[in-house]
Amino acid sequence: MEIVHVSAECYPVAKAGGLGDVVGALPKYQCKAGHQAKVVMPMYRTKFLYANEWVVDFKGNANLGDWFFDFTIIKEKTNILGFDLYLVDINSLLDRDKIYGYEDDTERFMAFQIAVLTWLSSWEHRPNIVHCHDHQTALIPFMMRHCFNFKQLSRVSTVFTIHNAQYQGWMNWSQSILIPEWDHYKTGLLEWNGGINPLACAIKCADKVTTVSKSYMEELHSDANGLEALFEFEKGKCVGILNGIDNDVWDASTDAYLAHHFSIKDVTEGKQQNKEILCTKYGLDTQKPLFVFIGRLVGEKAAEILPESIATAIFNTNSAASFFVLGSGQTEIEWPLQQMVHEFPGIYNSYIGYNEALSHLIYAAADFLLMPSRVEPCGLNQMYAMRYGTVPIVRRTGGLKDTVVDMGDENGYGICFNHASAADLVYSISRAASVYQDKTQLKKMRTTMMQIDNSWELTVEKYSNIYHSIL
Ligand code: ADP
Repeated sequence: MEIVHVSAECYPVAKAGGLGDVVGALPKYQCKAGHQAKVVMPMYRTKFLYANEWVVDFKGNANLGDWFFDFTIIKEKTNILGFDLYLVDINSLLDRDKIYGYEDDTERFMAFQIAVLTWLSSWEHRPNIVHCHDHQTALIPFMMRHCFNFKQLSRVSTVFTIHNAQYQGWMNWSQSILIPEWDHYKTGLLEWNGGINPLACAIKCADKVTTVSKSYMEELHSDANGLEALFEFEKGKCVGILNGIDNDVWDASTDAYLAHHFSIKDVTEGKQQNKEILCTKYGLDTQKPLFVFIGRLVGEKAAEILPESIATAIFNTNSAASFFVLGSGQTEIEWPLQQMVHEFPGIYNSYIGYNEALSHLIYAAADFLLMPSRVEPCGLNQMYAMRYGTVPIVRRTGGLKDTVVDMGDENGYGICFNHASAADLVYSISRAASVYQDKTQLKKMRTTMMQIDNSWELTVEKYSNIYHSIL
């Protein structure tokens, strides 16, 4: 089957979060399973672009409202990622340093989607599936069906995966001129709550809609940033499929970012060696249990409860634990997390920013990973942590609920709590601190976690079944 994934992110080309990880791995495993999966994404100015060789695949032009633009599709020459990778180059619009965060993001991703469809329309054959990811690609199913320019694609099946329903790509009606002319009887498909809502539009127009865990799918019926009724109405075509993780990239016995490799057999020693590197670099005690947080510093991740929780836990444990935070996001959350470094020297430290290499070292070095998330569609951090023998401390929500079993339950290996509050998190840290004293239990939890198979191999088949159901 020929599947074209359309996405704003793909690891290692460009990644801001879980979307990048998924689009960097799922197509690779689909190819291994015998499909012909491709990825098309914007050409940003990233390291990957300059480090690899490219050939021009297509040159075209299109309109974005009144603006007539040229674009080029380049293809990575060597299949280095295990699938065909295409980048869309639109001069001055996409070729920038960051993925998101520009005032003209709506125009950027509209032009990207139009360029992708113009390119796909030029193919002599049709792909079996166009698989779109998140709101930056969410108008594609509508445009394929109802825009006159893309009539050739109207019978191609579409799948839309929601990695995060909080972000919907809202547009004003004044921006509707950016969308190529469509059949005006279908205007209602673009609309939600008085504006153009790309995410809602994709839920209405795609042949199948998936989210990245079963529990998140259920939660969206009651908490979907205004789209609850739509999820209820369209539930017949919506399915929750838990993300996998790329075991080739996330393997503590081969991870290129680690100086000390380890496996289940030598997990205690291996983790301690990595802990020594991390703690020495950041001035933390190598003998105390190490609690870490990795992620976007935003309300969704309940990151604002970290300063109070960490300060209280330091007080409660009489400074018997170390804490480290890696992340970036809202300034009002970043700031206190930076200030605390001076308040708790030798006990707490942080790296405010994005650092892929450091994240790998932290998963390998830490004893416990904190995830108090308010919303967690799937969550990959807890799965990476478990694979590296780090006990996840998670709020019971979305994918965290589907992947972590509390140590108090049968065959449990993690620590779970119910509220995204400092009180719940501090209590969970105290449970963890007592586990750390019991080396036999800690070893057992690590061994159990490290044997869990969250690989993509198991998940690829579920996507294949979805594709077959709509072909
Ligand atoms: P989300 O997509 O909501 O941000 P996920 O748990 O699905 O959350 O994926 C987060 C991914 O991004 C993980 O691979 C995690 O290691 C990575 N990540 C998040 N923040 C950082 C950071 N500051 N530095 C390095 N990696 C990060």
